[in-house]
Amino acid sequence: MTCIFCQIVSHQLPAEILFEDDDLAVIKDINPSAPIHLLIVPKKHFDSLNTLDEKNANLVTKMWMTAKKMAEQQNTQSGYRLLINTGREAGQVIFHMHMHLMGGWGSRAKPGKR
Ligand code: AMP
Ligand code: ZN
Repeated sequence: MTCIFCQIVSHQLPAEILFEDDDLAVIKDINPSAPIHLLIVPKKHFDSLNTLDEKNANLVTKMWMTAKKMAEQQNTQSGYRLLINTGREAGQVIFHMHMHLMGGWGSRAKPGKR
């Protein structure tokens, strides 16, 4: 198995896992670009949103709801961003679909639009 996120969600590679269930894991991004930067990673491998099929589309709903819960748990529900990079042109570097949850800026700092 060569996919790094497949290895992480199956516990073959270490990562800081904050939550997991049968469908997904939430890990800390190793190179954070926000004070709170988590990744919501499905346990099933899809290269990207482009290769997610209809019958697994409920996974995306679950990712959104998990992100919302994690934002609450991390106490950043007053301001956070969710992002799925899709394709190299958009900056996707790990071709195992995942969602970024970024937040924790507090009331002082206002992040740019993207
Ligand atoms: P993307 O550009 O959307 O493919 O995002 C990949 C993200 O995975 C980047 O923010 C990386 O910092 C993060 N990342 C890469 N390797 C690891 C790892 N071993 N553990 C946690 N996060 C990682
Ligand atoms: Zn994978």
